[in-house]
Amino acid sequence: MLETAERAVATARVALLKRPGGSLELRDVPVPPLGEREVLVRIDACAVCGSDLHTAHGRRPHPLPAILGHEIAGTVVAVGAGPDVVDVVGEAITAGEQITWSVCASCGECDRCRGGLPQKCRQLFKYGHAANDEHSLAGGFASHVVLRPGTAIVRLPAGLTAVAAAPASCAVATAAAALRVAGDLHGRSVVVLGAGMLGLSVASLATARGAASVTVVDSRPERLDLLAAAAPQANTVPWSGNEAGLEHLVTGMLVADGADVVVDAGGSVATAQAAMRLIATGGTCVLAGTVAPVGNAACDPERIVRRQATIRGVHNYRPEDLAAAVSHLASPAGAGLASLVGPVMPLDAIDEALAMAAAGTAVRVVVTP
Ligand SMILES: [Zn+2]
Ligand SMILES: [Zn+2]
Repeated sequence: MLETAERAVATARVALLKRPGGSLELRDVPVPPLGEREVLVRIDACAVCGSDLHTAHGRRPHPLPAILGHEIAGTVVAVGAGPDVVDVVGEAITAGEQITWSVCASCGECDRCRGGLPQKCRQLFKYGHAANDEHSLAGGFASHVVLRPGTAIVRLPAGLTAVAAAPASCAVATAAAALRVAGDLHGRSVVVLGAGMLGLSVASLATARGAASVTVVDSRPERLDLLAAAAPQANTVPWSGNEAGLEHLVTGMLVADGADVVVDAGGSVATAQAAMRLIATGGTCVLAGTVAPVGNAACDPERIVRRQATIRGVHNYRPEDLAAAVSHLASPAGAGLASLVGPVMPLDAIDEALAMAAAGTAVRVVVTP
């Protein structure tokens, strides 16, 4: 039966990035034979993440040519030979099921995997981040992808569409990881710097997890407006966009001794240093937004010392965070966040989709084959 399923998909359509700033090349490529415990998935939706834009525009080094796209949901076409491929709760994956999966595939055996950092595995593979060769289907801007062993797979609950689920595997799961390291939120104040998909996800999750208050800062009023859907109880603070303005804003907020949990989802020098300066005594600052080099952020260490503050970096996430992200998007508390995903563009219009994402008018443009 598996053989039949594999033969039914002989070619896949892919969008290849060959040089930064250039158009993506649409091409039909052969579907490679499935290796042991690999999974062939038909892509139903792939969202454009900010880091795809960093790569497409050459703001960070990346092996080329590549199939970008890592916020993906799809339908299982075939499962390779060998032991069952199981999801995060240990149930075998079969053809026809709709799933999403971790941006990383990890070995599960190295010191980092065993130490609770599978996203930093010494043999890490990342979908949408690898150089493409003639035999690999490893990114989301395509009709199909081949999942490797060591990928955390989560089934989509009934009622959660592939489009709404797509951002789970980067933005929403990273938000879940950022709040996991921040600890119990009940009764604590949370400040989020940046209202992109990551910041909106943090605000939505923090509200659902019982934070006493959630305050989101951004320079783009149209992004702050999205909180009305993502986290209606959140306070919004408009920022002028210049660094001095943010300093002033931070100083004003520090009158109340800062916030118990501060998450930098903005990823600029200004937002990162404001995040470190905003921590209340005993609080935690999570830096999660910076995924391309930005320069040095300043913070007087005396502030960190006297406030007994914790500063954490979070990059990607553990399997449990992906499961939490999918559950949240499927829950009533996450429905508003899920509603922000779109518009949907065809794969053949990938250049227009990336341009639309870069223009920032939509928080998550989705590409579908
Ligand atoms: Zn991403
Ligand atoms: Zn490993």
